[in-house]
Amino acid sequence: MKTAAHPLLIHNGTVVDGTGTQPIVDGVVVIEAGKLAYVGPAHGAPVLPESVARIDARGGTILPGLVEAHFHATYFNIAALEDLDIKYPVEYVSLLASVNARLALECGYTAARSGGCLFNVDFWLKKAIEEDLIPGPRLSASGREICSAGGLMDWNPEFRKIGMEGLVFIVNGQEDARKAVRALVKDGVEWVKTYPTGDAASPDINDHHTLCMTFDEMHAVVRTAHNHGLKVTGHCRATEGIKNALRAGYDCIEHGTFMDDEALDLLLQRDVPCVPALYFEKASIERGPEFGLSQRVIDGHQETLDGGIESARRILRAGGRLGMGGDYGFGWNPHGDYARELTFFVQDVGFTPLEVITCATKTGAEIMGRGDEFGTLEPGKLADLLIVDGDVLADIRLLEDRSKFIAVLQGGVIKAGQLAKSFPILVKREQ
Ligand SMILES: [Zn+2]
Repeated sequence: MKTAAHPLLIHNGTVVDGTGTQPIVDGVVVIEAGKLAYVGPAHGAPVLPESVARIDARGGTILPGLVEAHFHATYFNIAALEDLDIKYPVEYVSLLASVNARLALECGYTAARSGGCLFNVDFWLKKAIEEDLIPGPRLSASGREICSAGGLMDWNPEFRKIGMEGLVFIVNGQEDARKAVRALVKDGVEWVKTYPTGDAASPDINDHHTLCMTFDEMHAVVRTAHNHGLKVTGHCRATEGIKNALRAGYDCIEHGTFMDDEALDLLLQRDVPCVPALYFEKASIERGPEFGLSQRVIDGHQETLDGGIESARRILRAGGRLGMGGDYGFGWNPHGDYARELTFFVQDVGFTPLEVITCATKTGAEIMGRGDEFGTLEPGKLADLLIVDGDVLADIRLLEDRSKFIAVLQGGVIKAGQLAKSFPILVKREQ
């Protein structure tokens, strides 16, 4: 991804740098060669020639670009589990994924970690974004997911003769698990997404207290993935599934819904991050009836939401790390609504806006394994940032409103927001 060739100065805004430290009122950010050269108070800022381009933050907020830590590029208007694999052909899904990527960037998400996708679409999407062919977040790819036979993601009845090869590797035992990871290694993904447990979406045979992989299968996944430098994460709701994942050496936990003391200890021992993805549960409860979800499914989502809130609180209070994001792309939880997760964590979970922003920036970048490149506003890091017209710390909901974004920058280049079309640097770059 190209970075800006010209210096840029951003002034007249409160800087929230993503590290969790107190904001800098009347802050200034100076960008040189696409990287942050100065972040601090206006009175200590370097004096730059008048000719240097400037952005007036209008007394608003300057913060790191947001990181979606559980991004499903290929999900689009999903109403039932089957929609994940057989609703559209891969050709159309690839196009939808590029639309979702552009939308995420416009929503202030300058980076995203895949939580799994159809075929290997996110790997190629990442390449197209990196080569500036299409706009989108810097991506970590996951490709296809792994689940054991009969588990949550193995829903097509045998008589239909429909395979699941586009969405998930269905494995039976350690040898299959290794084989699936080896295929992913060749696909070039960075994260291996697995299904250690079920979900409220499947109340009959794979609910949120059901295990969908054995420990041995999970351990085989981790050994093979780590050998090739890949990381492993998993959809973990049931308590025993969380513990299996942590004992098997998982690098991240998705959801971490029903954590008990032992699970929390295991998580903290290796400082494994968790991505709760709770707004999806709330949306499923609130909008489920209009999409035809049964009361049993909705009740399961309520139990999941309650458990997830409690676990997220415990993890943060105990000093653990949480990433923000989650499962957007369903009919009741569409792409574009990403920042609702952030509002939810302030309003319903009880985190401070500063805590939530740290989770959504610094921790997100750490989960991607790129915490030294972006995620906080510190000199030397890439100038991936978001300038919002308004006080985000006073009203986190501002992050849900794209019309309030003055600019979204990647590597110092304005990619979205009010200034995206008019800003002279972008015009110069295109000449
Ligand atoms: Zn997901």
